[in-house]
Amino acid sequence: MLRLPKFSYHRPTSAAEAQRIAAEHGPDARFVAGGTDLYPNMKRRVQRPGHVVALSQCAELRGVRGDARQGITLGAMTTLAAIERDALLRAQYPAFVHAASVVSTPLLRNMGTIGGNLLLDTRCNYYDQSHEWREAIQFCKKCDGTVCWVAPSSPRCWAVQSSDTVPLLCAIGAEVSLLSGDGERRVPLRELYRDDGIEYLSKRREELLTALHLPANDGWRASYRKLRRRGSFDFPVLGVGACLRLEGDRVVEADLRIGGAGSWPIPATRTVEMLRGAELRYGDPASDELIRAAAQEAYKPTRAMDNTDLDAHWRKKMAPVFVARAIRDCLPGAPERIDERE
Ligand SMILES: Cc1cc2nc3c(=O)[nH]c(=O)nc-3n(C[C@H](O)[C@H](O)[C@H](O)COP(=O)(O)OP(=O)(O)OC[C@H]3O[C@@H](n4cnc5c(N)ncnc54)[C@H](O)[C@@H]3O)c2cc1C
Repeated sequence: MLRLPKFSYHRPTSAAEAQRIAAEHGPDARFVAGGTDLYPNMKRRVQRPGHVVALSQCAELRGVRGDARQGITLGAMTTLAAIERDALLRAQYPAFVHAASVVSTPLLRNMGTIGGNLLLDTRCNYYDQSHEWREAIQFCKKCDGTVCWVAPSSPRCWAVQSSDTVPLLCAIGAEVSLLSGDGERRVPLRELYRDDGIEYLSKRREELLTALHLPANDGWRASYRKLRRRGSFDFPVLGVGACLRLEGDRVVEADLRIGGAGSWPIPATRTVEMLRGAELRYGDPASDELIRAAAQEAYKPTRAMDNTDLDAHWRKKMAPVFVARAIRDCLPGAPERIDERE
């Protein structure tokens, strides 16, 4: 059995106090929300904070506020299960609720929070292992070693962005609030992630994520499509978030992000360029041909490597398939419920 190392546990009752404690202990401190990512990482000794700052007593970090016309704000400590149950979110942001509801299992979703999901550590088969396992291969670049074992000649780490909600929330243009000693700042989620398996966030370590802001639901349509081995449990090995705004049949805005296949939510830039201005109708053969051609452009930027579950070449080939499905989901007339097998 893997045991937690010794650490000091802090239980502040406000966001400001939590942030102050974290700043006081610098790199030796970590926030903990649901702990479903941090504690396994501590047990594996890939994260070794001497001070853990629990957010569970900070009531101001919980809850869902606002309305769909103005935009919705969710406290960072809102659990994924609470998102699944929320009637307003279910009615107005179904793609977001779907992305939250396909995270792991009900047990994990009862504990796991939206803040923790947005800041989830990047994952890799050579990193998410016990200390002894990692020591046997002389560790890896992300923790204690110098070589990235999935690409030994590469100067960088290729650990993978594996959160289910991130690609979708980037695609719809969500924002987050970050609290530091200098006050609170609001940042587009798209700017929070960096294409680096180690330094995968642009936020400062002592900044506390206080809230997630969903944009007003003013006519855009979104979808999240997830590929994994077991439909009831696993991390995404490919996750596509898509968002389209149409005027009549014409696409006037689009955004597409690919998760689970690189160190950040990869923008499918060329696909988006091909979609803008296109006329698309659900079930129309000419539209379908255009969607398939645009989706094929997502093949190249998808950086599937041999460091997660399932064959990397197959996952890369599946990217255009999942991108096409996600685009179709965003068209008027598409079925309301996403069936991951179709
Ligand atoms: C078996 C298993 C399966 C899983 N499957 C999936 C899956 O399919 N999809 C998926 O997306 N995830 C999955 N996860 C990962 C995890 O359970 C979820 O991502 C969950 O939402 C993480 O939230 P948390 O509150 O538990 O995060 P925590 O573990 O508490 O925190 C995660 C990280 O974020 C930091 N942090 C948390 N909150 C804040 C904050 N407010 N401000 C600043 N920093 C903060 C912590 O310091 C830590 O570094 C899985 C985990 C396990 C163990």
